[in-house]
Amino acid sequence: MIFDPLYFVFLAPAILLGIYAQWKVISAYRRGHEFRTSSGLSGAEAAAVILRDAGVRNVAIEDVPGQLTDHYSPTEKVLRLSPEVFEGRSASSVGIAAHEAGHALQDAHGYPLLVARNAIVPLANFGSITGIIVIVLGFMLANAGLAWLIYVGIAIFSMTVLFQLVNLPVEFDASRRARKRLLATGVITVEEEPEVKKVLNAAALTYVAATLTSILTLAYYLFAAGRVNSSVDE
Ligand SMILES: [Zn+2]
Repeated sequence: MIFDPLYFVFLAPAILLGIYAQWKVISAYRRGHEFRTSSGLSGAEAAAVILRDAGVRNVAIEDVPGQLTDHYSPTEKVLRLSPEVFEGRSASSVGIAAHEAGHALQDAHGYPLLVARNAIVPLANFGSITGIIVIVLGFMLANAGLAWLIYVGIAIFSMTVLFQLVNLPVEFDASRRARKRLLATGVITVEEEPEVKKVLNAAALTYVAATLTSILTLAYYLFAAGRVNSSVDE
């Protein structure tokens, strides 16, 4: 069951979209990094301008090692930017920094979907590993009359799907806020906005691929559970 080729048939659309999204991110980021904005602000400076403009004063901006490690921590009120984004003075750098600042604005304004996402995170982390373990146990013990465990596992795993479904509009909203705030604060011009948009759209596509992966994984397990149950019944 672990090496079921049907799993890859189910997952094929998500795998292909994932590969396309990765390629899109790499090419959009590379292109965006070559595009210097006329304001000349770094990612860290752009994020600071956006937060100050929105009256958010309790969020620290730090640099964090690695690539694409940029994130906002709502519990610590810290916006962490990778070196390339923190110091970079390109459309990519200010776009990614502004996206993370967008999450800080969501947090400051109590954006309901972000509140929901943060509440689901621990459940989703639990569900992704525990759910799969219970599902595999269910398959292994199906002949001992424990096939129902598969459905318990699927229910636990569905927490990660729920997380992805809530996360998607949160990410789109952060990018929408980013572009709006970058324009409003004059960090980028109307002419520069499409370059930033390309970078943010490419990043958004990776979230769409991740969501599709979790939905199709769930669909596969439901299908496989049905197959096991009908063979047990016979
Ligand atoms: Zn984000």
